[in-house]
Amino acid sequence: MKKSLRVVMLMMFLFGLFVTSEAGLFFKQKKDKIKIGLSIDDLRLERWQKDRDIFVKTANELGAEVIVTSANGDAQKQLKDSENLLAQNVDVLVIIPNNGDVMAPIVEEAHRGKIKVLAYDRLITNADVDYYISFDNIKVGEIQAKELLKRKDNGNWFLMGGSPTDNNARLFREGQMNILKPYIETGKIKIVGDQWVKDWLAEEALKIMENALTATNNKIDVVLASNDSTAGGAIQALNAQGLAGKVLISGQDADLAACQRIIKETQTMTVYKPIKNLAQEAALLAIKMAKKEEVNLVDYVNNGKKDVPSKLLTPIPVTKENIDETVIADGFHTKEEIYISK
Ligand code: BGC
Repeated sequence: MKKSLRVVMLMMFLFGLFVTSEAGLFFKQKKDKIKIGLSIDDLRLERWQKDRDIFVKTANELGAEVIVTSANGDAQKQLKDSENLLAQNVDVLVIIPNNGDVMAPIVEEAHRGKIKVLAYDRLITNADVDYYISFDNIKVGEIQAKELLKRKDNGNWFLMGGSPTDNNARLFREGQMNILKPYIETGKIKIVGDQWVKDWLAEEALKIMENALTATNNKIDVVLASNDSTAGGAIQALNAQGLAGKVLISGQDADLAACQRIIKETQTMTVYKPIKNLAQEAALLAIKMAKKEEVNLVDYVNNGKKDVPSKLLTPIPVTKENIDETVIADGFHTKEEIYISK
């Protein structure tokens, strides 16, 4: 064989080696990339858009890919969404359940394929769920009741609970009652109505509040609303009766519109839950779970089937007095966004 031919063949061989090893590396990297399935109840609410954005950004920065689904408040759709995520071979499943009970079978299905499940913000109930990350939700309810009580410890109170299918809604109510019980028992506070708002929707809360005002002849002093979207609906109904700003009302989430209402004094308070911490911690946890690494959590929350190893972060009360040092100082919203003219 001529020397030049041998050189050409050698070069071709080396090139082939390079291409295959590069391609091998490429496929290996592709395969090694962690795939997280994030199944969200309802992206129509401002709160969950923030959670998604921070979770996805953190996971991406750590080299993982995230497939996100939103069930728009439909529990059965969320079941299908989560099945689809498993079918796409995700390495871990993170779920913000619409209905804690309905999502239980998906945990079993995931476990059959050796995939772990993280319940995010809301617990999956009566299931062998692996981990749970959230805020201390009983404390959220306590904060709401305490802030309102500071301003009025008697009169007619209306209870506006969250979605009846959301385990958190029950926890918020438990916390609220921890604080209110003695006042109710002595008759200082009279509960003039108690309703739960389907899917936490503002339009549902609006209708409920309209009916409550009619039924009580507008004799409501305080509305213990469990979050900002429901508070927003209730305040619309109060406004129509010239009562916005006169009736005390709580909230939760530090949604932008709620912060603006706090400045205008049509909403008394909200609860700020630093979503950034929750979403970042959850992304880290999900990656550990995907890699089957050991996870050590010190809190436990019972979900009806087991004590689920949990991480519970601390919620913060927000009023007009401390909004600058909390929500704004943390960069959750800017001063310009919150302090808008009427
Ligand atoms: C969350 C709240 C939220 C509500 C409605 C609850 O489970 O904890 O922060 O406002 O769902 O989305």
